[in-house]
Amino acid sequence: MNKASIYFLLLCTLFLVVVHEARAQGTQVFEKEFAPEPYECVPKAHKTYYKKVMDRARQAFEQNLKRSGGQRAMPPLFDWPLRQAEGFDYPGYYAISNFVDQASDTTLLDYNCGMRTYDGHDGTDIRIVPFRWNKMGNDEVEVIAAAPGTIIFRQDGNFDQNCAWGGGTPWNAVFIQHADGTITWYGHLKNGSVTQKDSGDVVAAGEYLGIVGSSGNSTGPHLHLEVYDPMGNLVDPFQGPCNSLNNDTWWNDQVPYFDSGINRLITASQQWTSPACPQQAQIFEKTVFDPGEAITFSVHYRCDLNTNTTQLTAFEPDGDTSTLLNILYQRGGNFFSTNPSALWNNTIPNNAPKGKWIFEAVYNTSTYGTLAYQNEFWVAETCQADRNFVGTHTISRYYQASNTITSTADINNGVHVVYDPENYTILSPGFSAPVGSKLEIRTAGCN
Ligand SMILES: [Zn+2]
Repeated sequence: MNKASIYFLLLCTLFLVVVHEARAQGTQVFEKEFAPEPYECVPKAHKTYYKKVMDRARQAFEQNLKRSGGQRAMPPLFDWPLRQAEGFDYPGYYAISNFVDQASDTTLLDYNCGMRTYDGHDGTDIRIVPFRWNKMGNDEVEVIAAAPGTIIFRQDGNFDQNCAWGGGTPWNAVFIQHADGTITWYGHLKNGSVTQKDSGDVVAAGEYLGIVGSSGNSTGPHLHLEVYDPMGNLVDPFQGPCNSLNNDTWWNDQVPYFDSGINRLITASQQWTSPACPQQAQIFEKTVFDPGEAITFSVHYRCDLNTNTTQLTAFEPDGDTSTLLNILYQRGGNFFSTNPSALWNNTIPNNAPKGKWIFEAVYNTSTYGTLAYQNEFWVAETCQADRNFVGTHTISRYYQASNTITSTADINNGVHVVYDPENYTILSPGFSAPVGSKLEIRTAGCN
């Protein structure tokens, strides 16, 4: 290295040091006033503003109460603040990822003396799982009022696909004041999904407020629920030995600390993708298979513990246990907050029995009682161009056709038949399908 190069390097280093110091000073000032702390669902500057909003609402509320001479109502009891939108009916759809941090120092302490929180977290975070970006994209999970009240703050129009904290962009949210003056926050809602009702409008318990999203300081779609009593003191709605904020539960029906369960069972043609945030996964869900086709069974949990067991079974149409899947599964570690899943790949045998199969999971028979989950899938009849049925269907079957299906056949009680032609189905006007039987017409055609 010659002298000139060394001088140049020294100059560069000096320049870098100066720039770095300037930035550090600038950052310090910035942090004090505006920048969010790391690990905060609600940046400090936003919180200061929201506290003013709440103070105003509280003052008005107390003045009204005084003026009317009325008695203060009892504190509300909350119903669950989420529900599946119409058309979605999975066994489960959420997992609690963070409770309120009860520790005033930098240690972590949740209401149950565990550490399922992060430093300075004032709310309860409820994720939607599995496949949360898909769930958000499909408007699958609605945020609803946990108790009746009046809207005191509403904000919409903000970007909703954040994947990291620290951006400091505002969230979409609704704040509700309840009959006794308690205030609840519902934050991180999807852009454009927030209720059309505005400040001053009344909402009923269970009324739609928005769709779960990832607006504001958020790593992915979840609801941040935050509660303040009429005095403005923070409330942790969960009752437990390390809740030093309040003694009682604020829930009508408090979910267990370890709310273990199965959110979904899926049959698919292959494993789902895990694309970069915020892209949606491809799930490859498939419920109709031909013999010889690949099949992937997957189970998606919430809060799975290593003491929990799952018996996973594929039952043939006659009820026999299949060699396709017959596994007693137990996880090696605990998964409280994320959405653990497991999968098994196999191939439908060429001689597999045709008809309706059951993919069943029995989770924790001893610990939580019998929790059985079932998904049906079909091994279809060989595809033909056209099909014509007469007589009576006496067994459940899935019929595919690349053109049409014509039928005058009746269906016996308890029998489930699917006609799936590419073009059209012609049914005789007189055919009978008694209560307990099931005829489905689909239009996907051959696999
Ligand atoms: Zn949060």
